[in-house]
Amino acid sequence: MLNQLTISELVSKLAKREVSARAAMQACLEQVQRADPKIQAFISYDAEDALAQADAVDKEVAAGGTHAQRPLLGVPIAVKDVISVKGQPLNCGSKILGKFISPYDATVIQKLKAAGAVIFGRLNMDEFAMGSSTENSGFQITRNPWDTERTPGGSSGGSAAAVASDQCIAALGSDTGGSIRQPAALCGCVGLKPSYGRVSRYGLVAFASSLDQIGCVTKEVWDAATVLEVLSGVDHRDSTSVPQPVPHYAANLTGDIKGLKLGLAKEYMVGGLDPEVKEAIDAAVKQLEKLGAEIVEVSLPHTDYAVATYYIIATAEASANLARFDGIRYGLRVEGADPIQLYSKTRGTGFGAEVKRRIILGTYVLSSGYYDAYYLRAQKVRTLIRNDFLKAFEKVDAIVTPTSPTAAFKIGEKADDPLQMYLMDIFTISANLAGLCGISVPCGFTRAPKLPIGLQLLGKPFGEETILRVAHAYEQSTDWRKEKPPG
Ligand code: GLN
Repeated sequence: MLNQLTISELVSKLAKREVSARAAMQACLEQVQRADPKIQAFISYDAEDALAQADAVDKEVAAGGTHAQRPLLGVPIAVKDVISVKGQPLNCGSKILGKFISPYDATVIQKLKAAGAVIFGRLNMDEFAMGSSTENSGFQITRNPWDTERTPGGSSGGSAAAVASDQCIAALGSDTGGSIRQPAALCGCVGLKPSYGRVSRYGLVAFASSLDQIGCVTKEVWDAATVLEVLSGVDHRDSTSVPQPVPHYAANLTGDIKGLKLGLAKEYMVGGLDPEVKEAIDAAVKQLEKLGAEIVEVSLPHTDYAVATYYIIATAEASANLARFDGIRYGLRVEGADPIQLYSKTRGTGFGAEVKRRIILGTYVLSSGYYDAYYLRAQKVRTLIRNDFLKAFEKVDAIVTPTSPTAAFKIGEKADDPLQMYLMDIFTISANLAGLCGISVPCGFTRAPKLPIGLQLLGKPFGEETILRVAHAYEQSTDWRKEKPPG
């Protein structure tokens, strides 16, 4: 079952020519056919194109191509529907893009292709990445492979569900407030959000430009390190990407974390946290101590304001970014008697309820008279939140938290209560507000039903090496990654 392999396992088989890239791609496609009628992770996929890419890899390997030159040669990677892949549909989980086809590759796709990956499929998501359950998709509801009555989390729910059910070897997602880490936690995968500026956003459809980052969902930490190394680096097409050298992330996964200081934020272990999640996190912290890390209490005093701050800044930026979907330039057009009518009919028809709610909120907080009271104040609080973290990182190398306050919740359970849904982001959004990196790694299960729990490690801006090292040491000292969802 080649589709069940991790990147490292598959690459080693491909490099020894024990298997072909075509066979690996074929195994994933067969699993999509088997599992996806139920899971609904893919909005679409182009099997012919995927197999043609795999065949090209096999030719290259036959001609002497190696993984030393191209580290992801022959690895099938699926992509969240918010990242442009030339010639493939780009819908952002929304009806407003109609039959839009990407005219170019995002920088991350160019880089994955240069590394030899086989890019396939469009993964379901909350419309424009707004949500925590993938229920806001304009296409379909993705189901959690561990319990199909439950959501996979969101907004990269398609990415996490596809990886967890072995429909691909790894997937790309985007994270504006937790959208990679939270679904990874709820589906039992590894989810990595790089620091702001680590990875180019060129070709990522913008939700909230000052918070968005592209990252990956994988089966193991080594895989995340390898994909991150490929994705990272400055890009002249994204002026917010930072010219920091890219480390050889996977080489630093030594398993040794002796002497590292890990922070526990007292503000994070409070009400609303599910007792079974708390138990799993406590046990993980003990395990980290056993591995030689020193646990230090830290304080993040502005934690209480993070959700409110995020939902002001994110909606403000979204309202501006989504103005481009006007019925003239992209996708869907609903005709009207004049341009204004065309514009409002198109947006009225094309956008779903959550996107409209956010545009209205965002427009409100930016409007004259309210700008100072909401948007400007939120920006100031954002600085306070960032400073809390920078201060904590003077004492510790990384911060340990739960990824999500609960395990996967039922489909429909929070769908009518946006505030409840927004609170699911409590542990993840601060990282985006502060520009930090974060990773979620499996750390156990609830008992009945058996649902995955995620441990989050937050690192300093450009501190990916450290959080990867800690996550890897923890992962390799436990057996959680070996558990597979039923079916
Ligand atoms: N759940 C958060 C939101 O709805 C985060 C989404 C994201 O990271 N894209 O905005």
